Amino acid sequence: MSSTLQSVYQEASPSRQERNALLEGMACTSRVTDLRKYVMLAVASGNGQPRDLQYLVRNPAASDVIYDLLKNSLAIISSKPDGLEYALLTMTYNWFTPERIEQLHELIPLLSSDQYRTFLNIYSDVIYRSQYGQGAYMEITRHLYDAYYPLGFTPWTRRLPTSAKPLTYQLSVQPYIPNQSYMYFTEKNFTYDANITITMQPTQDLTEIWLNSHRHVIEGYSVLNLDTNQTLTVSKVTRDYQNAIIVLTMAATIQANANIQICFNYSGFIFEQTPNEGTLSNYDYLQSDGRKSWIFATDFEGGPSTRSLAPSFDEPIYKAKWQVSIIYPGEFTALSNTLEESTMNLKNGLVKTTFKQTNTMSSYLLALTIGHYSCLKGVSNIDKTIVRIWTWTGMENYGQHALDFAIAAVDHLSATLSTPMPLEKFDILALPQYSGYSAGAMENWGLVIAGYFDVLFHPDYSSSAQLENIQNTVTHELAHHWFGDLVTLDWWNHIFLNEGFATFWPPEILLAKSPEQKNSVLYTKFSIHEHGLDMDDNAASARPVSPDPNLLGPNYCLFCDTVYDKAGSVINTVRNAFGRDAAFYDGLSQYLKTWSFKNPSDTSLWAALDAVANQYRIKGWSGQYLNVTEMMLPYTYQWSGPYLRIISKGNGLYSVGQNPLVPQSNLPYSPYNYRWNIPYRYQINGSSLSSVQYLTSTETSINLNAGANTPVIFNPQGQTHARVQYDDASWAPIYQTFISNPFIFDETSRAQILADSWAFLQKKNSVSWKRFLDLTLYLQKETSPLVWRYVIRDGSWITILYDRFRYQSAVFPNLVTYINKITSGMATPNFTLTNDWSIDTANSLLVDLKCGVSNQECMQKVASSFATFIQQCKNSAYGTGKCNPAPPDFRAAQLCYGVQQSSRDFNTVLSLFQWWQKNPPSNDYFPQDAEFLLNGLSCSQDPGALYELITATLNQQIPSIFLSFVAGNDNLGTILSNYLQTNQSNVLNSPLFDNYIKQMVSDWSTQTQLDFLTNFNATAPLSPSQRNSVQSAINTVSNLMSWLSTEGTPISQWLSNFVASLITPSSTVAP
Ligand SMILES: [Zn+2]
Repeated sequence: MSSTLQSVYQEASPSRQERNALLEGMACTSRVTDLRKYVMLAVASGNGQPRDLQYLVRNPAASDVIYDLLKNSLAIISSKPDGLEYALLTMTYNWFTPERIEQLHELIPLLSSDQYRTFLNIYSDVIYRSQYGQGAYMEITRHLYDAYYPLGFTPWTRRLPTSAKPLTYQLSVQPYIPNQSYMYFTEKNFTYDANITITMQPTQDLTEIWLNSHRHVIEGYSVLNLDTNQTLTVSKVTRDYQNAIIVLTMAATIQANANIQICFNYSGFIFEQTPNEGTLSNYDYLQSDGRKSWIFATDFEGGPSTRSLAPSFDEPIYKAKWQVSIIYPGEFTALSNTLEESTMNLKNGLVKTTFKQTNTMSSYLLALTIGHYSCLKGVSNIDKTIVRIWTWTGMENYGQHALDFAIAAVDHLSATLSTPMPLEKFDILALPQYSGYSAGAMENWGLVIAGYFDVLFHPDYSSSAQLENIQNTVTHELAHHWFGDLVTLDWWNHIFLNEGFATFWPPEILLAKSPEQKNSVLYTKFSIHEHGLDMDDNAASARPVSPDPNLLGPNYCLFCDTVYDKAGSVINTVRNAFGRDAAFYDGLSQYLKTWSFKNPSDTSLWAALDAVANQYRIKGWSGQYLNVTEMMLPYTYQWSGPYLRIISKGNGLYSVGQNPLVPQSNLPYSPYNYRWNIPYRYQINGSSLSSVQYLTSTETSINLNAGANTPVIFNPQGQTHARVQYDDASWAPIYQTFISNPFIFDETSRAQILADSWAFLQKKNSVSWKRFLDLTLYLQKETSPLVWRYVIRDGSWITILYDRFRYQSAVFPNLVTYINKITSGMATPNFTLTNDWSIDTANSLLVDLKCGVSNQECMQKVASSFATFIQQCKNSAYGTGKCNPAPPDFRAAQLCYGVQQSSRDFNTVLSLFQWWQKNPPSNDYFPQDAEFLLNGLSCSQDPGALYELITATLNQQIPSIFLSFVAGNDNLGTILSNYLQTNQSNVLNSPLFDNYIKQMVSDWSTQTQLDFLTNFNATAPLSPSQRNSVQSAINTVSNLMSWLSTEGTPISQWLSNFVASLITPSSTVAP
């Protein structure tokens, strides 16, 4: 090549074209000597600019050659016109990286001031391109991760080899979210830069270091032996993107127990919207002044997990101490698991906060956040620990209840478990968006992060049921600080060790702190038990409390209700088998002491309880002390739970047997053969409860002697995780007692007997509609809020029958008579609060039910309250929160049945609703009144007024939920279908078409309704997808019609007999 090059410059022979082609070709060489010659000739030839350098721009080897020449022969190059500029431009054409920028820095001392000016122009271009390039690289990488690799798993199932254990992490993070005080390249948006130093010890000689790392762009790493201060050579880095694992293969073996330090420099990504787990942002959030703002937060138990923030040993078993620093725009407040150790102003709009080192903890409990936050602060009474409720500025005053509940929880758990929490502070942070919604919470140690709706209470808008929920959420998360954070499951199949106890404690804490809320405590405990059994009732929902670890994976619902309510019910079963809370709590305390900062398995818990059962001489079966392990494994490993089968053998003799709630043939194999050692009590004729009895797994039945014709109930108060099935003979005296003197049974037992009957009715084994509905007639005497909350809750038989018979004109009036009759013992509540949460919630349900069947007294009370509402609110400039005479609990009924009875006030309600629509959106964080007003409008009896709002809904001017309100409140079921007939194109052209059809046919069950649909399907110009919607609506209606003609028959028969009996005075009790 050398000679060709010479000839190009020495001979005039080649044409210009030929010359350029030759130069371009030669510029591709990677031989350093040739390149050096090329550059020197290009610079030396002629007197003009060294333009021929331009052919070298894409040759990385040439850029190194030019760099060398600049360093050693700067004078020659700069002697030519624009020589330095050409050389620098050519050299830096593909220079983007920090290393290249470092090389440029080394030229600076060689430059004169004139040369420096030339240099600076080009240098700043390189800097810009390098940052843009990094940003673009991040963007591209993000797209690749999104497109080809999992966002995260709950849990990640590929385990790290157990060949090393982490000791400490030092993590520094700089997240980039939009803000006012620090500018950054837009390409950095929703990314973070970080570095981490991990110290760890191999537990055996190893040549590979395995860590978890997810969605990271790793810029640098190093491994150091701290004992010898030697840098260790990494020969290969392997990344398993599918399982978020990184493997450093070492050039030499690392000895067991060496102290090793690993450092990573890296960048990562912040999720802007979904999945809202991992490193996340609150994307749709407004400050109290209505300005949009952003929050950076973390949520690591599921999905992307901690490995999406930090290369780490990201499994619960690898507990270690974390020290976290965060660099962030100064306008924000930063929070993490611990209190701040130092805060430094970096003077460029940024602040760096370093938090104190954490206790030894599992990686999934790490938490880190920045946002515009304020807090309410308190101190716990016993341990004098700081307790704070944080939220976005302007909202903190709604946190007072949560603060009280949190302090109560800390005090109660610390004392009852004789285990103070090794924390200086408990923070609860209420975010506008947690896991994408306003609800939910995560128990990060020292920094709970939650959706605000589960933490903040607005006195003008929040109901008693919401307050009850806030108590439950806050104390649930704090209970985790003991059960989950201090003592942590060893692997995710034992998640019930966390969630079962976090479910168990909230009612206990409430009872201790606020005994006046005893009704709420009883209801919550009943609900846990009942819902746990409900999970076990059907093959589709039945799951083990503690599943085989091989089951875990993308298709297994780990955080389903089984590990919460069924686990809570099962834990309560052990507690009741102990019969002495002091002994049970002592056992839990021993468990916490033994396993603090460690990772127990399920058997560790049972073993601790076995020890105290011996110590306290707690009686078990077969004359032994209670063997908790043997008792609990069948409850936690099997897919369903048991029911007790009660058979009267006459003369007061009973036999008690057991069966699984789901027939064994429909369940996976179990080595326990779906039998249990069941602790239970019974109660004869309402006297005190028996001592704990055991129906063991090997006994087929036991015999019990109680007087003839005496009611004997088994499992009173739902103390054991089992349903009870009575044969007709054992049921007869119970039923008679319910009708004559139900109050010899306590309220939990009454609700449980209703619930068990309903469950067996649905299973179609042993309880008929007649037996069940006969029993419900006792409700005429019922006054317990617990029972009424069970009876009227969503999904109860009353709501189911109401919906299914709504449009059955021959049956519905009888159903209304029945509902009026069973609720006749409960006067319509006044629209005032008793401040007993359970009574207030039951009252609000009763009003909904009674007015729903047009009960006169209810309608009158509504009319009067509604009239006051109109008078006090019609001119309100501040919405309806304060002027409404009814508390939030009663507003749904007040506004619906108020509008229904008073069409002249429709426009006033409409304008009050419009106030909400025009109001600064930040007020929408408590949208309850807006929704009640909209629901109220849907109850109008004026079709014309409704049509206008339906049109507005289809045009998406008011929320689409209005369609479901209309469907739910339309007594004839004709509003939406009549509108469709007269305004077909509005519906056909609306993006809400599918929803419209679905709402229109809610509860439709008549031939006329089916004919309307069939005709619409045949005549309307539907798109294929619209036709699918209509076809599926036809199927829904046909299915309900077929249910009514089969299963509905005994119900309508019973109802008509019942109504007939009311006019025959001799049989008012049992039809
Ligand atoms: Zn939980």
